[in-house]
Amino acid sequence: NLSTKLDQAFKTLKGQGRITEINVANTVKEIRKALLDADVNYNIAKSITNEIKDEALGKDVLIAVKPGELFIKIVYDKLVSLMGGELAEFTPTGSPAVVLISGLQGSGKTTFSAKLANRLKAQGKQALLVACDIYRPAAIDQLHTLGEQIGVDVFSERENKDAISIAQKGIQYAKANGKSIVIIDTAGRLAVDEQMMQEISAVKQAVQPSETLFVVDSMTGQDAVNTAKTFNERLDFDGVVLTKLDGDTRGGAALSIKTVVNKPIKFISTGEKPDTLDVFHPDRMAKRILGMGDVVSLVEKAQQAFDEEEAKRLNKKLRKNQFDLNDLLSQIQHIKKMGNLKDLMGMIPGMGKMLKNVDVDDDAFKPVEAIISSMTPTERENPDIINNSRKRRIATGSGTSVQQVNNLLKQFQEMKRTMKKINTMQGMGGLPGFGK
Ligand code: GDP
Ligand code: MG
Repeated sequence: NLSTKLDQAFKTLKGQGRITEINVANTVKEIRKALLDADVNYNIAKSITNEIKDEALGKDVLIAVKPGELFIKIVYDKLVSLMGGELAEFTPTGSPAVVLISGLQGSGKTTFSAKLANRLKAQGKQALLVACDIYRPAAIDQLHTLGEQIGVDVFSERENKDAISIAQKGIQYAKANGKSIVIIDTAGRLAVDEQMMQEISAVKQAVQPSETLFVVDSMTGQDAVNTAKTFNERLDFDGVVLTKLDGDTRGGAALSIKTVVNKPIKFISTGEKPDTLDVFHPDRMAKRILGMGDVVSLVEKAQQAFDEEEAKRLNKKLRKNQFDLNDLLSQIQHIKKMGNLKDLMGMIPGMGKMLKNVDVDDDAFKPVEAIISSMTPTERENPDIINNSRKRRIATGSGTSVQQVNNLLKQFQEMKRTMKKINTMQGMGGLPGFGK
């Protein structure tokens, strides 16, 4: 899998602590290969990996993170942002609102049209499907069958061979019958051809849709990019629908298309049944492109390792006896975020004492956090300046008593004494388990 390969590519790096030019070349090759395996277009894979390389070079590799994992996190973040970062909007307007469906034959237009109608119906909207595939009578039947299945009206004219006129009559029908949204299903060819492009452009011109969607089969891989480009040049569509993602395709088409035409991917289709439609989630697609499941845990692991690095920074401060109440507060917040308190208690000498007689749970930290938060930054750095009137203010501000404030300050002094002792011992050869 990708992360193992990356770890191998990074073998020489271990212990250096920095991503360097020497080992980055192999890694970039592995990532590029992974993207190509996921059907990302070659030129796009190349430019992405170059950008990632620049981003990664010179980055500190945390001791706790394997370089391969850190690299995957960089790649993952990059893919998510390239695919739009957030969910795209789909809010067609007009009365009725008109949605035009375009794409090659077999891409899944008719299936998607019905799914979209089904979704809108579930949202309480009155949808109308219009059959504008004038070349295949079977396509009209198909739309009628689907319409019946989901309980949505279908408009068609079997003898009419003019797509524009059918579309216009469909919109008239919608107006006359109280439909708020019209979905126009169109014809497609097996490959892009001029007649088809002219026809759909003319339909678009005539009906002025609020949304033109381009439907593309995710299994067509590299070809999907060229098709998307051609359709976009002629139609200037508003969004992309990626179909057949229920197969084992890795979804690289999503990345390629978004990068090339710079239009949002709005929906993904994952089956033949009417309810197999979903809005597009860039983060899920990034995971899919990078090889599914284990990426999630890798990213989480990398995140956790950042926390460990923070603990190391703290240890350094402890050793120099510069640990103050600011550090204690930030450490408590870190520990809470990581969840597993008992394992982490040992990180701060004297911490166990501070919480003695208390069950180790988040609540135990509450008064400590509240008290420190009520101090000024200067007071946190130098608790010695806290006199009686300041103590009263802190107690009031934190909803505690002066006695609790006193206790905390006393325990903090004890902590510092303990640390000093440890530091002295470390001067005599170090304490096991207390990292350098
Ligand atoms: P059109 O020619 O663009 O209208 O494409 P169709 O909607 O007729 O779909 C072509 C074929 O692909 C049909 O057999 C559909 O059932 C199938 N299909 C469409 N979308 C999906 C999908 O998301 N997953 C799967 N597995 N099949 C799909
Ligand atoms: Mg069709």
